[in-house]
Amino acid sequence: MTNVTLSTSPTRQAAPSVAMNDFRRMWDEVGPAAMEALNQVGQSGWYILGNEVKAFEQSLAQWWGAGQCVGVANGLDAIEIALRAMDIGPGDKVLTTPLSAFATTLAIMHVGATPVFVDVDEIGLIDLDRCRRVVRSDPAIKAMVPVHLFGFSIDLGELAGLKQSFDLQLIEDCAQSIGARFNGRAAGTVGDATATSFYPTKNLGTFGDGGAMLTSNDALAACARQIRHYGQTEQYHHERFGLNSRLDELHAAILRRALLPRLETWTHRRRQIAAHYLSRIDHPRIRLITAPPGMEPVWHLFPVRVPPGEREAFRADLAACGVHTGIHYPRLISDQPALRQYARFEVTDPISIAQQFATGEVSLPINPHLTDEQVDQVVAACNGWRR
Ligand SMILES: *Cc1c(COP(=O)(O)O)cnc(C)c1O
Repeated sequence: MTNVTLSTSPTRQAAPSVAMNDFRRMWDEVGPAAMEALNQVGQSGWYILGNEVKAFEQSLAQWWGAGQCVGVANGLDAIEIALRAMDIGPGDKVLTTPLSAFATTLAIMHVGATPVFVDVDEIGLIDLDRCRRVVRSDPAIKAMVPVHLFGFSIDLGELAGLKQSFDLQLIEDCAQSIGARFNGRAAGTVGDATATSFYPTKNLGTFGDGGAMLTSNDALAACARQIRHYGQTEQYHHERFGLNSRLDELHAAILRRALLPRLETWTHRRRQIAAHYLSRIDHPRIRLITAPPGMEPVWHLFPVRVPPGEREAFRADLAACGVHTGIHYPRLISDQPALRQYARFEVTDPISIAQQFATGEVSLPINPHLTDEQVDQVVAACNGWRR
Protein backbone atom coordinates (compact mmCIF):
# COMPACT_ATOMS: atom_id res chain seq x y z
CA MET A 1 0.00 0.00 0.00
CA THR A 2 1.37 3.35 -0.96
CA ASN A 3 0.32 6.94 -0.62
CA VAL A 4 -1.61 6.44 2.53
CA THR A 5 -1.91 9.76 4.26
CA LEU A 6 -2.12 9.45 7.97
CA SER A 7 -3.91 12.11 9.89
CA THR A 8 -1.34 14.44 11.36
CA SER A 9 -3.57 15.86 14.07
CA PRO A 10 -2.69 14.41 17.44
CA THR A 11 -5.42 12.52 19.23
CA ARG A 12 -6.96 15.12 21.44
CA GLN A 13 -8.47 14.32 24.76
CA ALA A 14 -11.73 16.24 25.11
CA ALA A 15 -11.24 18.96 27.73
CA PRO A 16 -13.12 18.32 30.97
CA SER A 17 -16.15 20.53 31.02
CA VAL A 18 -16.79 23.59 33.17
CA ALA A 19 -20.52 24.21 33.43
CA MET A 20 -22.30 27.43 34.40
CA ASN A 21 -23.96 25.56 37.28
CA ASP A 22 -23.01 22.34 39.00
CA PHE A 23 -26.16 21.00 40.61
CA ARG A 24 -24.66 17.57 41.19
CA ARG A 25 -21.88 18.91 43.43
CA MET A 26 -24.41 21.11 45.14
CA TRP A 27 -26.54 18.09 45.96
CA ASP A 28 -23.47 16.26 47.24
CA GLU A 29 -22.98 19.13 49.66
CA VAL A 30 -26.53 19.82 50.82
CA GLY A 31 -28.39 16.59 50.01
CA PRO A 32 -28.32 15.13 53.53
CA ALA A 33 -29.56 18.39 55.12
CA ALA A 34 -32.25 18.73 52.43
CA MET A 35 -33.42 15.15 53.02
CA GLU A 36 -33.60 15.87 56.73
CA ALA A 37 -35.77 18.94 55.97
CA LEU A 38 -38.05 16.82 53.76
CA ASN A 39 -38.36 14.31 56.58
CA GLN A 40 -39.29 17.00 59.09
CA VAL A 41 -41.97 18.48 56.83
CA GLY A 42 -43.31 15.04 55.92
CA GLN A 43 -43.65 14.06 59.54
CA SER A 44 -45.29 17.37 60.44
CA GLY A 45 -48.18 16.62 58.06
CA TRP A 46 -48.45 20.36 57.28
CA TYR A 47 -47.45 21.43 53.77
CA ILE A 48 -48.75 24.94 53.06
CA LEU A 49 -48.33 28.13 55.14
CA GLY A 50 -47.19 26.57 58.39
CA ASN A 51 -44.35 26.94 60.84
CA GLU A 52 -41.57 26.26 58.33
CA VAL A 53 -42.59 29.21 56.14
CA LYS A 54 -42.86 31.43 59.23
CA ALA A 55 -39.48 30.34 60.56
CA PHE A 56 -37.78 30.83 57.19
CA GLU A 57 -39.38 34.26 56.75
CA GLN A 58 -38.03 35.29 60.16
CA SER A 59 -34.57 33.92 59.43
CA LEU A 60 -34.27 35.63 56.07
CA ALA A 61 -35.64 38.97 57.34
CA GLN A 62 -33.13 38.89 60.18
CA TRP A 63 -30.27 37.84 57.93
CA TRP A 64 -31.12 40.65 55.49
CA GLY A 65 -31.81 43.32 58.09
CA ALA A 66 -35.33 43.83 56.77
CA GLY A 67 -38.37 44.10 59.02
CA GLN A 68 -40.48 41.41 57.40
CA CYS A 69 -40.26 38.73 54.78
CA VAL A 70 -43.21 37.24 52.89
CA GLY A 71 -42.48 33.93 51.17
CA VAL A 72 -44.05 33.61 47.72
CA ALA A 73 -43.99 31.21 44.78
CA ASN A 74 -41.23 32.87 42.72
CA GLY A 75 -39.34 36.08 42.06
CA LEU A 76 -41.72 37.31 39.38
CA ASP A 77 -44.65 37.11 41.80
CA ALA A 78 -42.62 38.82 44.53
CA ILE A 79 -42.31 41.90 42.29
CA GLU A 80 -45.94 41.74 41.16
CA ILE A 81 -47.23 41.34 44.72
CA ALA A 82 -45.13 44.31 45.88
CA LEU A 83 -46.54 46.44 43.04
CA ARG A 84 -50.12 45.35 43.85
CA ALA A 85 -49.65 45.93 47.57
CA MET A 86 -48.49 49.46 46.74
CA ASP A 87 -51.52 50.03 44.52
CA ILE A 88 -49.49 50.56 41.39
CA GLY A 89 -51.58 49.84 38.32
CA PRO A 90 -53.09 51.22 35.13
CA GLY A 91 -52.14 54.84 34.56
CA ASP A 92 -48.97 54.63 36.63
CA LYS A 93 -45.57 54.84 34.98
CA VAL A 94 -42.75 52.74 36.42
CA LEU A 95 -39.07 53.36 35.69
CA THR A 96 -37.09 50.22 35.02
CA THR A 97 -34.14 48.78 33.12
CA PRO A 98 -34.23 47.16 29.68
CA LEU A 99 -31.30 44.92 30.68
CA SER A 100 -32.66 42.28 33.04
CA ALA A 101 -34.58 39.04 33.21
CA PHE A 102 -37.90 39.56 31.42
CA ALA A 103 -39.69 38.93 34.75
CA THR A 104 -38.82 42.42 36.03
CA THR A 105 -40.91 44.08 33.35
CA LEU A 106 -43.49 41.29 33.16
CA ALA A 107 -44.51 42.05 36.75
CA ILE A 108 -45.09 45.70 35.78
CA MET A 109 -47.15 44.56 32.78
CA HIS A 110 -49.18 42.16 34.95
CA VAL A 111 -50.46 45.03 37.10
CA GLY A 112 -51.30 47.09 34.02
CA ALA A 113 -48.74 49.84 34.64
CA THR A 114 -46.51 51.42 31.99
CA PRO A 115 -42.82 50.52 32.08
CA VAL A 116 -40.47 53.40 31.22
CA PHE A 117 -37.06 52.12 30.15
CA VAL A 118 -33.89 53.99 31.03
CA ASP A 119 -30.41 53.11 29.77
CA VAL A 120 -27.79 51.43 31.96
CA ASP A 121 -24.30 52.55 32.98
CA GLU A 122 -20.95 50.98 32.08
CA ILE A 123 -21.41 48.10 34.52
CA GLY A 124 -24.94 47.31 33.38
CA LEU A 125 -26.97 48.95 36.16
CA ILE A 126 -29.80 51.41 35.54
CA ASP A 127 -28.26 54.89 35.13
CA LEU A 128 -29.45 56.97 38.09
CA ASP A 129 -28.45 60.32 36.54
CA ARG A 130 -30.65 59.57 33.56
CA CYS A 131 -33.42 58.41 35.90
CA ARG A 132 -33.27 61.75 37.65
CA ARG A 133 -33.61 63.62 34.35
CA VAL A 134 -36.47 61.42 33.16
CA VAL A 135 -38.45 61.67 36.41
CA ARG A 136 -37.99 65.43 36.53
CA SER A 137 -39.51 65.79 33.08
CA ASP A 138 -42.43 63.41 33.68
CA PRO A 139 -44.44 63.75 36.89
CA ALA A 140 -46.57 60.72 35.90
CA ILE A 141 -43.69 58.50 36.96
CA LYS A 142 -44.66 57.29 40.42
CA ALA A 143 -42.56 54.22 40.96
CA MET A 144 -39.30 52.53 40.10
CA VAL A 145 -38.17 48.91 39.84
CA PRO A 146 -34.36 48.99 39.57
CA VAL A 147 -32.42 45.74 39.31
CA HIS A 148 -29.23 45.01 41.22
CA LEU A 149 -27.97 43.08 38.21
CA PHE A 150 -25.21 40.44 38.01
CA GLY A 151 -24.81 40.48 41.83
CA PHE A 152 -23.76 44.16 41.79
CA SER A 153 -25.43 46.73 44.01
CA ILE A 154 -26.64 50.04 42.67
CA ASP A 155 -25.26 53.03 44.61
CA LEU A 156 -27.72 52.90 47.52
CA GLY A 157 -27.11 56.45 48.69
CA GLU A 158 -27.92 57.76 45.21
CA LEU A 159 -30.94 55.47 44.96
CA ALA A 160 -32.31 56.61 48.31
CA GLY A 161 -31.73 60.24 47.25
CA LEU A 162 -33.64 59.74 44.01
CA LYS A 163 -36.54 58.14 45.87
CA GLN A 164 -36.64 60.99 48.32
CA SER A 165 -36.29 63.83 45.81
CA PHE A 166 -39.27 62.68 43.78
CA ASP A 167 -41.28 60.75 46.37
CA LEU A 168 -40.97 57.61 44.24
CA GLN A 169 -42.32 54.24 45.32
CA LEU A 170 -39.33 51.95 45.11
CA ILE A 171 -39.23 48.19 44.64
CA GLU A 172 -35.72 46.73 44.44
CA ASP A 173 -35.22 43.62 42.32
CA CYS A 174 -32.63 41.63 44.29
CA ALA A 175 -33.12 38.31 42.50
CA GLN A 176 -29.41 38.33 41.57
CA SER A 177 -27.93 40.22 44.46
CA ILE A 178 -28.79 38.65 47.80
CA GLY A 179 -26.08 39.82 50.22
CA ALA A 180 -24.61 42.55 48.00
CA ARG A 181 -23.67 45.80 49.73
CA PHE A 182 -22.86 49.39 48.92
CA ASN A 183 -20.92 51.43 51.49
CA GLY A 184 -21.78 48.80 54.07
CA ARG A 185 -25.52 48.92 53.45
CA ALA A 186 -27.37 45.87 52.09
CA ALA A 187 -28.96 46.09 48.65
CA GLY A 188 -32.70 45.73 49.15
CA THR A 189 -32.94 47.92 52.23
CA VAL A 190 -33.57 51.36 50.74
CA GLY A 191 -36.80 50.64 48.88
CA ASP A 192 -40.36 50.31 50.15
CA ALA A 193 -40.12 46.66 49.22
CA THR A 194 -37.61 44.21 47.82
CA ALA A 195 -38.10 41.10 45.73
CA THR A 196 -35.85 38.10 45.50
CA SER A 197 -35.91 34.65 43.90
CA PHE A 198 -34.87 31.14 44.96
CA TYR A 199 -34.84 29.77 41.40
CA PRO A 200 -32.18 27.01 41.29
CA THR A 201 -29.46 29.08 39.60
CA LYS A 202 -29.75 32.05 41.98
CA ASN A 203 -27.22 32.57 44.79
CA LEU A 204 -29.76 31.23 47.29
CA GLY A 205 -31.31 28.79 44.82
CA THR A 206 -33.45 25.88 45.96
CA PHE A 207 -34.57 22.67 44.23
CA GLY A 208 -37.54 24.26 42.51
CA ASP A 209 -39.29 27.63 42.48
CA GLY A 210 -39.56 30.10 45.31
CA GLY A 211 -39.31 33.79 46.06
CA ALA A 212 -39.79 36.41 48.74
CA MET A 213 -40.85 40.00 49.22
CA LEU A 214 -39.14 41.88 52.03
CA THR A 215 -40.21 45.15 53.57
CA SER A 216 -39.96 47.19 56.73
CA ASN A 217 -43.52 48.44 56.27
CA ASP A 218 -45.87 46.24 58.32
CA ALA A 219 -48.99 47.29 56.42
CA LEU A 220 -47.33 46.40 53.13
CA ALA A 221 -46.26 43.01 54.50
CA ALA A 222 -49.78 42.27 55.74
CA CYS A 223 -51.18 43.21 52.35
CA ALA A 224 -48.66 40.99 50.56
CA ARG A 225 -49.63 38.05 52.80
CA GLN A 226 -53.23 38.47 51.65
CA ILE A 227 -52.35 38.82 47.99
CA ARG A 228 -50.21 35.65 47.93
CA HIS A 229 -53.20 33.74 49.36
CA TYR A 230 -56.14 34.61 47.03
CA GLY A 231 -56.49 38.04 48.62
CA GLN A 232 -58.13 36.62 51.70
CA THR A 233 -57.96 38.24 55.13
CA GLU A 234 -59.39 35.19 56.81
CA GLN A 235 -60.58 31.89 55.44
CA TYR A 236 -63.18 32.37 52.69
CA HIS A 237 -63.24 36.14 53.13
CA HIS A 238 -61.67 37.99 50.21
CA GLU A 239 -60.90 41.69 50.55
CA ARG A 240 -59.07 42.08 47.26
CA PHE A 241 -57.90 40.31 44.15
CA GLY A 242 -55.07 37.97 44.93
CA LEU A 243 -52.97 35.19 43.49
CA ASN A 244 -52.07 31.71 44.54
CA SER A 245 -48.42 32.41 45.18
CA ARG A 246 -47.30 30.72 48.37
CA LEU A 247 -43.83 29.50 49.20
CA ASP A 248 -44.42 25.92 50.33
CA GLU A 249 -43.33 24.37 53.62
CA LEU A 250 -40.91 21.99 51.96
CA HIS A 251 -38.92 24.68 50.17
CA ALA A 252 -39.03 26.94 53.21
CA ALA A 253 -37.60 24.10 55.31
CA ILE A 254 -34.87 23.33 52.78
CA LEU A 255 -34.00 27.01 52.44
CA ARG A 256 -33.72 27.61 56.19
CA ARG A 257 -32.15 24.35 57.25
CA ALA A 258 -29.91 23.45 54.31
CA LEU A 259 -29.23 26.50 52.13
CA LEU A 260 -29.30 29.79 54.05
CA PRO A 261 -26.66 28.57 56.55
CA ARG A 262 -24.28 28.05 53.59
CA LEU A 263 -24.93 31.30 51.75
CA GLU A 264 -22.03 33.23 53.35
CA THR A 265 -19.58 30.47 52.44
CA TRP A 266 -20.86 30.30 48.88
CA THR A 267 -20.72 34.08 48.50
CA HIS A 268 -17.16 34.05 49.81
CA ARG A 269 -16.24 31.45 47.20
CA ARG A 270 -17.88 33.46 44.41
CA ARG A 271 -15.83 36.49 45.51
CA GLN A 272 -12.65 34.44 45.52
CA ILE A 273 -13.31 33.24 41.97
CA ALA A 274 -14.18 36.76 40.79
CA ALA A 275 -10.95 38.14 42.31
CA HIS A 276 -9.02 35.40 40.53
CA TYR A 277 -10.64 36.15 37.16
CA LEU A 278 -10.13 39.89 37.60
CA SER A 279 -6.43 39.53 38.34
CA ARG A 280 -5.64 36.75 35.86
CA ILE A 281 -7.74 37.21 32.76
CA ASP A 282 -5.71 39.38 30.46
CA HIS A 283 -6.69 39.70 26.82
CA PRO A 284 -6.88 42.81 24.63
CA ARG A 285 -10.42 42.04 23.43
CA ILE A 286 -11.95 40.83 26.70
CA ARG A 287 -13.25 43.72 28.75
CA LEU A 288 -13.58 42.93 32.45
CA ILE A 289 -16.12 44.72 34.60
CA THR A 290 -14.79 45.95 37.93
CA ALA A 291 -16.89 47.05 40.87
CA PRO A 292 -16.60 50.75 41.79
CA PRO A 293 -15.28 51.70 45.25
CA GLY A 294 -17.75 50.98 48.05
CA MET A 295 -19.52 48.17 46.20
CA GLU A 296 -19.37 44.61 47.53
CA PRO A 297 -20.87 42.45 44.77
CA VAL A 298 -21.99 38.85 45.30
CA TRP A 299 -21.13 37.82 41.73
CA HIS A 300 -24.30 36.01 40.72
CA LEU A 301 -22.76 36.17 37.27
CA PHE A 302 -19.32 37.13 35.99
CA PRO A 303 -20.00 39.31 32.94
CA VAL A 304 -17.30 40.31 30.48
CA ARG A 305 -17.65 42.20 27.23
CA VAL A 306 -16.14 41.34 23.85
CA PRO A 307 -16.48 43.12 20.50
CA PRO A 308 -20.05 42.38 19.29
CA GLY A 309 -19.04 40.73 16.03
CA GLU A 310 -16.73 38.34 17.86
CA ARG A 311 -19.03 37.09 20.59
CA GLU A 312 -20.01 33.82 18.94
CA ALA A 313 -16.42 33.04 17.96
CA PHE A 314 -15.30 33.71 21.54
CA ARG A 315 -18.00 31.47 22.99
CA ALA A 316 -17.22 28.71 20.50
CA ASP A 317 -13.54 28.94 21.34
CA LEU A 318 -14.26 28.65 25.05
CA ALA A 319 -16.66 25.76 24.42
CA ALA A 320 -13.89 23.95 22.53
CA CYS A 321 -11.82 24.30 25.71
CA GLY A 322 -14.70 22.79 27.69
CA VAL A 323 -15.86 26.11 29.13
CA HIS A 324 -19.60 26.81 28.95
CA THR A 325 -20.79 30.41 28.93
CA GLY A 326 -24.05 32.34 29.02
CA ILE A 327 -25.40 35.64 27.67
CA HIS A 328 -27.27 38.07 29.93
CA TYR A 329 -29.19 39.17 27.95
CA PRO A 330 -29.16 38.78 24.18
CA ARG A 331 -32.28 40.89 23.57
CA LEU A 332 -33.33 43.99 25.50
CA ILE A 333 -36.72 43.77 27.22
CA SER A 334 -37.89 46.83 25.28
CA ASP A 335 -37.21 44.89 22.05
CA GLN A 336 -39.22 41.80 23.04
CA PRO A 337 -42.25 40.97 20.89
CA ALA A 338 -44.51 40.79 23.97
CA LEU A 339 -43.88 44.49 24.60
CA ARG A 340 -45.12 45.37 21.12
CA GLN A 341 -48.37 43.54 21.86
CA TYR A 342 -48.72 45.19 25.25
CA ALA A 343 -48.01 48.56 23.61
CA ARG A 344 -48.02 50.58 26.86
CA PHE A 345 -44.32 51.27 27.36
CA GLU A 346 -41.86 54.08 26.83
CA VAL A 347 -38.20 54.15 25.88
CA THR A 348 -36.30 57.22 26.98
CA ASP A 349 -33.38 58.51 24.89
CA PRO A 350 -31.45 55.90 22.94
CA ILE A 351 -30.66 52.98 25.24
CA SER A 352 -27.29 52.46 23.65
CA ILE A 353 -25.19 51.10 26.50
CA ALA A 354 -27.77 48.44 27.29
CA GLN A 355 -27.65 47.58 23.58
CA GLN A 356 -23.87 47.16 23.81
CA PHE A 357 -24.39 44.64 26.61
CA ALA A 358 -27.04 42.84 24.57
CA THR A 359 -24.61 42.40 21.68
CA GLY A 360 -21.28 41.94 23.50
CA GLU A 361 -21.83 40.45 26.97
CA VAL A 362 -20.63 36.96 27.85
CA SER A 363 -21.05 35.38 31.30
CA LEU A 364 -18.25 33.11 32.51
CA PRO A 365 -18.94 30.25 34.98
CA ILE A 366 -18.78 31.45 38.58
CA ASN A 367 -20.77 28.98 40.67
CA PRO A 368 -19.37 28.30 44.17
CA HIS A 369 -18.75 24.63 43.38
CA LEU A 370 -16.07 25.30 40.77
CA THR A 371 -12.74 23.75 41.71
CA ASP A 372 -9.51 25.74 41.56
CA GLU A 373 -8.53 23.68 38.50
CA GLN A 374 -11.75 24.65 36.75
CA VAL A 375 -11.21 28.32 37.57
CA ASP A 376 -7.72 28.06 36.06
CA GLN A 377 -9.19 26.31 33.04
CA VAL A 378 -11.54 29.27 32.46
CA VAL A 379 -8.64 31.74 32.78
CA ALA A 380 -6.47 29.72 30.36
CA ALA A 381 -9.33 29.43 27.85
CA CYS A 382 -9.88 33.20 27.92
CA ASN A 383 -6.21 34.11 27.70
CA GLY A 384 -5.71 31.55 24.95
CA TRP A 385 -8.38 33.08 22.71
CA ARG A 386 -6.90 33.99 19.30
CA ARG A 387 -5.17 37.35 19.69
C1 LIG B 1 -34.56 35.33 38.12
C2 LIG B 1 -34.95 36.74 38.10
C3 LIG B 1 -36.28 37.15 38.31
C4 LIG B 1 -37.42 36.18 38.37
O1 LIG B 1 -37.34 35.21 39.34
P1 LIG B 1 -38.20 33.86 39.16
O2 LIG B 1 -38.10 33.22 40.49
O3 LIG B 1 -37.56 33.08 38.07
O4 LIG B 1 -39.59 34.27 38.84
C5 LIG B 1 -36.54 38.50 38.36
N1 LIG B 1 -35.58 39.41 38.21
C6 LIG B 1 -34.30 39.07 38.00
C7 LIG B 1 -33.27 40.13 37.86
C8 LIG B 1 -33.94 37.71 37.92
O5 LIG B 1 -32.67 37.39 37.69
